[in-house]
Amino acid sequence: MNKPNISVVIPAYNEEKNIKKTLDETSKFLEKEFPNYEIIVVNDGSTDLTRNIIEDYPNKKVILINNDKNRGKGYSVKQGVLKAKGKKIIFMDADLAYPPSNIKTLVDANKSAKVSIGSRSVPGAIVEVRPPLHRRIMAKVFLKLCALLMGLNYADTQCGIKCFDREVAKKIFQKQRIFGWGFDVELLFLAKKYNYKIAQVPIHLRKEHSFQTSKLNPIKDPIKMFFDLLRIKLFDLLGKY
Ligand code: UDP
Ligand code: MG
Repeated sequence: MNKPNISVVIPAYNEEKNIKKTLDETSKFLEKEFPNYEIIVVNDGSTDLTRNIIEDYPNKKVILINNDKNRGKGYSVKQGVLKAKGKKIIFMDADLAYPPSNIKTLVDANKSAKVSIGSRSVPGAIVEVRPPLHRRIMAKVFLKLCALLMGLNYADTQCGIKCFDREVAKKIFQKQRIFGWGFDVELLFLAKKYNYKIAQVPIHLRKEHSFQTSKLNPIKDPIKMFFDLLRIKLFDLLGKY
């Protein structure tokens, strides 16, 4: 087969309830819009039936990577992106919070910017469900810290769907060292450092998106993410990037 035009990387940790529907909808969409595609699912040490469901999935364009144990979203996305062959590489969540139609929006924006990131907070975004208050506060504080500490002024660093030109993706993800939730900020930090244009694209967030089933721990994870920012600063000072 030719090299695919599009690679969609999906990190999946205990997603047995969602993954089949996600693969169905995503492959249906891609067959129509970008028939030369691959979907790379990175099973992040799931302890439920996620792995079996992907192994039994009949579509040959779906590729499975298994982590040896649960490593975090950032680590999982990295494994998928480094393996991806597409001219455009997208990552998105396994629970279809962001429906596949967003892929086209991001790929279109990627024609003029090497990095296009989904945003729930720029004009034009369709957000069917508002996060609970504690998540909104967390997000606000985190964005402020990103601006103050990292000089990153983006409306939404944490949106779970982003698209990269292949060469740019390979360069940035090879350098990636943050493997938990803070990884998005590191990607943006690196993209900015290497002077790639970053487009913020309004996306559609579905009401099915459930914050109840989120794997983000509301106490521990914000603290870890704060330290991730400091680690990025430190890695930069140490010349690791
Ligand atoms: N995820 C992962 N490893 C983890 C935690 C999460 O690969 O240790 C994946 C998860 O399966 C999903 C994505 O990361 O595809 C986002 O996770 P979640 O939906 O829990 O987060 P939220 O939508 O609340 O940000
Ligand atoms: Mg989710």
